[in-house]
Amino acid sequence: MSETTDQAVYKTLLESTQAIPWKIDWKTMTFAYIGPQIESLLGWAQASWVSAEDWATRMHPEDREKVVDLCISQSQNGVDHEADYRALTAAGDYVWIRDVVHVVRDDNGEVESLIGFMFDISERKKTEEQLLTLQKQLEEYSYKDGLTGVANRRMFDTVLASEWANAQRTRQPLSLILLDIDHFKQYNDHYGHIQGDDCLKHVGQALSRAASRPRDFVGRFGGEEFVLVLPETDEAAARHIAERCRQQVRQQRIPHERSSVSPMLTISLGVSTIVPGAQDRALDFLNAVDKLLYQAKQRGRDRLEMARTASRSELDDAADARA
Ligand code: GH3
Ligand code: MG
Ligand code: MG
Repeated sequence: MSETTDQAVYKTLLESTQAIPWKIDWKTMTFAYIGPQIESLLGWAQASWVSAEDWATRMHPEDREKVVDLCISQSQNGVDHEADYRALTAAGDYVWIRDVVHVVRDDNGEVESLIGFMFDISERKKTEEQLLTLQKQLEEYSYKDGLTGVANRRMFDTVLASEWANAQRTRQPLSLILLDIDHFKQYNDHYGHIQGDDCLKHVGQALSRAASRPRDFVGRFGGEEFVLVLPETDEAAARHIAERCRQQVRQQRIPHERSSVSPMLTISLGVSTIVPGAQDRALDFLNAVDKLLYQAKQRGRDRLEMARTASRSELDDAADARA
């Protein structure tokens, strides 16, 4: 084949691909060539692509600086590169493009030109974005309680395990509050399940306001029971937060005509603090707090019961002292 036939073949090949070929002369920063396919993709006429400036201005403003800086610095260093950006169409929309760039040098090693291909990656980007949204939703569903929006039981199990290990390591007090709505069965019976659900939402919101430190955790333990995990929190602070929980729920002023305790919705709480040692188990602590909650119910509801939980080593020391 003669050289001219060769060129004709290459030209036909280049201009019939999905990818759009282009060439920029490095010294003048002007287009030496751009495939005619650009017009069907972006709507700008082939002849309107004159300088690198035309390329930069027809780019989404949020992408422009980053992409232009990257392309210039990589080209100056003679490094092949690629960039994803949103290209502006003549109609005013944006199309996601991946530009793959090869840096051509002359015999002296100086950058002579850039040649590259633009690929339309809109579909791929759309799928990526959809996947990201889905992934975010899934993550939320997996740690949030669907009804109340506070963390769910699974998340509580995870958080308690990790804060327990943390407290064992740092020898810092860990506090736990377990609380239960008073006479909620009567509430449901009287007001109906839908309003019961609504009430649970309000309690969840009230509790979220009661604890404000970044590592404080509020979750739905199950049914109409909620739980707070308070790291690095001593007895006095835990009592304070438990009182705030009661106050916040009371401030919601949720009528509960069938309650024998109060005309407004109330809660009962079990509260305890421990400095766990290596031999202590989180489950025993949780059981101890549950017993306190039960006591609060026994002793009249709308109240909190609080006791410090001794660690194994503290109990052993006390036994040794008695012996
Ligand atoms: P106590 O003061 O001793 O806690 O009495 P109680 O009636 O609150 O206790 P009990 O455990 O007998 O009743 C809990 C009720 O909570 C029964 C159940 O139907 C209701 N419940 C649990 N989960 C939900 C829920 O997701 N939505 C609604 N509406 N009610 C729920
Ligand atoms: Mg209950
Ligand atoms: Mg209850």
